[in-house]
Amino acid sequence: MKSSKTILVGENLIGLVGLDEVFEHFLKSDTKPSQRLGAKLLSEIKKLNYVSIKAQKDYQEALLREYRIYYIKNKSQKGEKIVEVQKTYKGVPREQIPWFPTVHSEKCDGCKECFKMCPTKVYYWDDQTEKPLVVNPFNCIVGCINCAIICKRDAVIFPPKMILDNLGHR
Ligand code: SF4
Ligand code: SF4
Repeated sequence: MKSSKTILVGENLIGLVGLDEVFEHFLKSDTKPSQRLGAKLLSEIKKLNYVSIKAQKDYQEALLREYRIYYIKNKSQKGEKIVEVQKTYKGVPREQIPWFPTVHSEKCDGCKECFKMCPTKVYYWDDQTEKPLVVNPFNCIVGCINCAIICKRDAVIFPPKMILDNLGHR
């Protein structure tokens, strides 16, 4: 059975069949996440999913972004161990808590401060774009916003802290 995964395409969350297999195929041949790969990813995904003509550009951008994260994550795990910090928070499995940074790359000037500051390797530094990528979102320490504080461009955002208030009391 093919994998199924949800990704952000434009402003919509879209479920895609076979994404993991397509990414695995390109990773095996060590295909780098270059701009040209976007069209190839789209063509493979279209064999397994319906993509309307007017949404193709958004799909291409989203697939390339996801592949870049996938590629970097797999490559970086070979070289260095990624620190795992919290398995649970207030008794709730860490992966069920949507607490992690989102980087607005159009605001980011590439100063690298967020990347240097994070103790838990949430970020990977993408030398191609010279911007940070959030590759290990659930390594983020619940409640920490240090990288958002240090970012002078307000390019790093977090959900409101009140989402943490009722955790563990449901
Ligand atoms: S601190 Fe802000 S401006 Fe600097 S690299 Fe991180 S996101 Fe970009
Ligand atoms: S909030 Fe803290 S733990 Fe989370 S990514 Fe930023 S510096 Fe790292």
